[in-house]
Amino acid sequence: MTVRERTLAIAAALACVYFGSSVWSASGPTRVFDSERAYRDLVRQCDFGPRVPSTPAHAECAQWLTQTLYSCADSVSQQAFVAQVAGRELPLTNIIATFNPGGERHVLLCAHWDSRPVADRDPDPANRGEPILGANDGASGVAVLLEIARALKREPPKRRVTIVLFDGEDYGLAWQDMCLGSRHFAQEYAGPKVDWAVLLDMVGDRDLRLAPEKASQQKAPEVVERIWSAAESVGAEAFVRGRGPAVYDDHVWLLRRGIPCIDVIDFEYTYWHTLQDTPDKCSPESLGQVGRTLLAALETDGI
Ligand SMILES: [Zn+2]
Repeated sequence: MTVRERTLAIAAALACVYFGSSVWSASGPTRVFDSERAYRDLVRQCDFGPRVPSTPAHAECAQWLTQTLYSCADSVSQQAFVAQVAGRELPLTNIIATFNPGGERHVLLCAHWDSRPVADRDPDPANRGEPILGANDGASGVAVLLEIARALKREPPKRRVTIVLFDGEDYGLAWQDMCLGSRHFAQEYAGPKVDWAVLLDMVGDRDLRLAPEKASQQKAPEVVERIWSAAESVGAEAFVRGRGPAVYDDHVWLLRRGIPCIDVIDFEYTYWHTLQDTPDKCSPESLGQVGRTLLAALETDGI
């Protein structure tokens, strides 16, 4: 792979508009997650069309995501690189936003922003070569993190928080050609130690049920406990104890790099890798449960 890092200096930050409707008391959580706004961000991503690498929709969405984070974070960078896929070069871009870079503790929150080039699990064989919209598989995790970014803009974190949107998670048919952005990010990572990290993937399902993913439970049980306890503290009933499936996802590469990252994922999704992975299969309520849980986890850790 070749590396080309492009850093955008922060100039006058755009106003980060807040449409929330309630302010919590000083003794309760101080950051508010606007579920409806997160859902609009899910729809907005889908409005670009399938965010398949090397397409105009992918490039336009990258620009929008970068600008949206730019209006909230202390700094935003695009980590552009070229992956080798099936003997040819594929340009990809991770998008990285940093809050309070001088903070001592460091939390990393991530999701993938690309969508799959083929609907290879579509019930209709005629559709299996078509790209998917990825409302849940891609846009949902990003939507939650954009709203988290707005909350961190309103009340800056006391510690360092990094939001990373990975590219190329869903590109390949073979596992070797998937999770390309996280692999590159992990291999190149030279930043400060990460105390805990959470990957969001497929968190928008209307019928959301989140059990701890297997590798997460094995390799970072303290982070699982942190997040599931936070979920209980805010009454996010989609989070259930017990055993979830083992999923090859972006967190695997972070774990291999020594970053304690868990995958928050509902892998029981009927529309996975089909043309039916559309916004109507997702809900603001589900995004809200995940968003409120993450904010509570940050708050509990003094962040
Ligand atoms: Zn996928």
